[in-house]
Amino acid sequence: MTRIVALGSCVVDLVFRMPRLPGRGETLFAESAGLFPGGKGLNQALAARRLGAETAIIANVGDDMLGEYLIRLLEAEGVDVRHVVRDAANGTGFAAPIVFPDGGNSILSAPRANLALAPSVVEGAGAAIAAADALLLQFEAPMDANLAAARIAKEAGTRVLLNPAPVIPHPPELLGLADVLVVNEVEAAMLAGGDDPGAQALALLAGRELAVVTLGEGGATFAARDGSVAHVDAFAVDAVDSVGAGDAFCAALAVALCEGMNAASAVRFASAAGALAVTVAGAATSLPVRAKVEQLLAS
Ligand code: ADP
Repeated sequence: MTRIVALGSCVVDLVFRMPRLPGRGETLFAESAGLFPGGKGLNQALAARRLGAETAIIANVGDDMLGEYLIRLLEAEGVDVRHVVRDAANGTGFAAPIVFPDGGNSILSAPRANLALAPSVVEGAGAAIAAADALLLQFEAPMDANLAAARIAKEAGTRVLLNPAPVIPHPPELLGLADVLVVNEVEAAMLAGGDDPGAQALALLAGRELAVVTLGEGGATFAARDGSVAHVDAFAVDAVDSVGAGDAFCAALAVALCEGMNAASAVRFASAAGALAVTVAGAATSLPVRAKVEQLLAS
C-alpha cells in the first residue's frame, strides 16, 4: 500500500454566505452559514486517504473543542493522527470565508496553532516520513517545520511534493528539496514570472522529477524530468465550487506517482481528482474517493 505523510494546516472554516460585507459598526445577517473542516494539510491528507493511501498527518491544533473535532474527523476517515499535537498555548486555527452572491469571496483567517507547529514535532515523526513513499508540503505551515520534514524525506529517499501555496517568503533550500512542484496560475506567475504555462513549468522543473502548473478548468501543463512539456485538458464537469481542487490534485498526483504511473498518467489521474472536487461544495466534503476517480478516467 502506498504510504503518504502530509504536513500542514488543519483549520475550521466558518463559511458565511453574505449579500455584501457589513460596514463598520453594522451587524448583517448571513443568508446561510456552515462549519467545515479545512486547511491544506487536512485536505491533502484526507484526499490521499480517500484515494487509497495509508496516510498520516503532522499538524498542530489547539487543546480545545475545535481541535478535538478535527482530530476525530481525521481519525474517522482512517488518517493516522499520532503526530497531531494538541497545543495548550495556541488555539485551533479557524477562518471565516465570506461568500458573495456572485461566488466571489473574502476570507478572515486566523491560523493560530498552525503557525506554532514545531520542528521538534516533525523530528518526532521522522520515522513515519522516512518510511513513507511521499511527503506532502504546502506553505500554510511554518517554514522551519517544512524544511525539517523535507530534509528528513530527502535523506530517506521519500519523494517530496511541494505545493507552495500561498506564496509567501520561504527558504530557497525548500524549493530545492522538492521532487515534485505543483503551482496554480497565480503561484506560477509569482515563482517563475511570465504567463506561458509551458515556459513556467520548464523554469520550475530545474532538475526535479516533475513541475506542474494547474490552470483550473484550463487543465494542467507539466514539465517532466526529461525536459518534455505536455498539457492535460481538464475533465468536463458541472463546476459547483472550486475549493479543494488544488488539494485533491496534489494528493492524487502523489498517490499516482508512488504507484508507479508515469508523469502523463499521474497528471491525468490528478486532473480527474481535481475535477471531481469542483462538483461538490466545500473542501473536505468534495475530496473524491478512488472509485469515483477511476470511473471518471474510464468514462
Ligand atoms: P487551485 O485550487 O490550487 O487554484 P486549480 O484551480 O488550478 O488549483 O485546480 C487544480 C486542478 O483541478 C486543475 O488543473 C484541473 O485539473 C482541476 N480543475 C479545477 N477546476 C476545474 C473545473 N472547473 N473543471 C474541471 N477540472 C477542474
